[in-house]
Amino acid sequence: MAKQTPTLMDQIVSLCKRRGFIYQASEIYGGMGNTYDYGPLGVELLRRVKDAWWGAMVTERADVVGLDSAIIQNPKTWETSGHVGGFSDPMVDCKKCKGRFRADKLQDARCLEKPSKIPGECDGELTEPREFNMMFKTNVGPVEDTGSVAYLRPETAQGIFLNFKNVLDSARIKPPFGIAQIGKSFRNEITPGNFVFRTREFEQAEMEYFVPPAEDQQWFDHWVEARHQWYIDFGVNPDKLRLREHDPKELAHYAKATTDIEYHYPFGWGELEGIANRTDFDLSRHSEASGTDLLYFDPQTKEKYTPYVIEPAGGINRMALTFMIDAYEEQQLEKDTRVVLHFHPEIAPITAAVFPLVKKDGMPEKAQAVAAMLRKARFATFYDEKAAIGRRYRRQDEVGTPFCVTIDGDTMETDVVTVRHRDSMEQEKVKISELVGYLYEAKTNWTRP
Ligand code: ATP
Repeated sequence: MAKQTPTLMDQIVSLCKRRGFIYQASEIYGGMGNTYDYGPLGVELLRRVKDAWWGAMVTERADVVGLDSAIIQNPKTWETSGHVGGFSDPMVDCKKCKGRFRADKLQDARCLEKPSKIPGECDGELTEPREFNMMFKTNVGPVEDTGSVAYLRPETAQGIFLNFKNVLDSARIKPPFGIAQIGKSFRNEITPGNFVFRTREFEQAEMEYFVPPAEDQQWFDHWVEARHQWYIDFGVNPDKLRLREHDPKELAHYAKATTDIEYHYPFGWGELEGIANRTDFDLSRHSEASGTDLLYFDPQTKEKYTPYVIEPAGGINRMALTFMIDAYEEQQLEKDTRVVLHFHPEIAPITAAVFPLVKKDGMPEKAQAVAAMLRKARFATFYDEKAAIGRRYRRQDEVGTPFCVTIDGDTMETDVVTVRHRDSMEQEKVKISELVGYLYEAKTNWTRP
């Protein structure tokens, strides 16, 4: 068989495994569908993405506070939110190969026996579409009976609605204000995942922004704009992003309007994040079902109302994948090709790599001291003394390290190091005493190549 050129997705998957970003989960047991583990660099990448999100959504704002709610809530939560009755995808089963596929995504699926065909195009007969609930069920307590059934949350948003009153009463805040949360969500996804684009467990970053009902459109527009800009600020190519308004038929049961921020993935346009106007649906439903008043009383106007909610909801893993795909380049140089991830320095798992030019003459000791100084200044720093300097640069390019710091003979005499920039490959001499400030500035002033 002719050897096929690997696709961009193949390259990314292979880089992820080779360099310790992402591994197949339970690999030694043959894996587990749509489930992945994050290695040393992957976990740093996720952390950077979460910090970038939290920084923009909470730390930099006076009107948003954070929350960390439980994954397993009282099951009434999900009955009230509509997830028990309605959180489902229409699925069809193939009577021959026994595969189960999303009825609305048959074009993306493959027959289990004849992968060149889509389900229904082969000899197998498909059943009528059936609703399939995507929530994972579990049991709490010592007895497994219907009374002990509970669910793993399929979204973090409901934990925020349940705490609306607690936060209002304790945080000295009033509408318009937001509650943000990052945490794991679980969905029994059936369709093939395109690597970590769609997985069964994933981290969500959601913010519920509570507003007076008359201000809903204004805040909806604000958050669509702000979230779109956030991706651009963190280096994503604006030409690969687009906004897509949901058609009324497509809207979730709770939404008055939704706009998706989509990215042009190697497998086509896909949702990266959604901004929804959830109206007063959730607070009203929980108020009614729990008997707890979830209204806001405005002491100035003496008005009582249920706030409307604007929700930007994204997936941390999907964001990380997007940053990675967008940053990936195979650059043809004069003598060779280099693989480089042009991560924004705030997103890069490693900020600085420190190398002694050679493994002698006191250079390793000096380089270790420089690395320790950078770590103390809170730069994620990697020390490497193995292989030729050119190869060490390439290894860092491949994982997106923006700055490499080399200690050479000059350093031993004058305390000056060479800083090599990942994107331009340009080198500059910097005094060790000025290195922290220099890197901090270079990080802040970075622009997309
Ligand atoms: P999709 O249409 O892709 O299934 P959705 O519309 O169901 O997504 P939301 O419920 O709006 O997604 O969830 C908000 C965000 O959470 C999505 O934009 C995505 O970034 C992320 N997300 C949702 N499902 C998954 C999943 N199975 N794996 C990884 N991320 C996910």
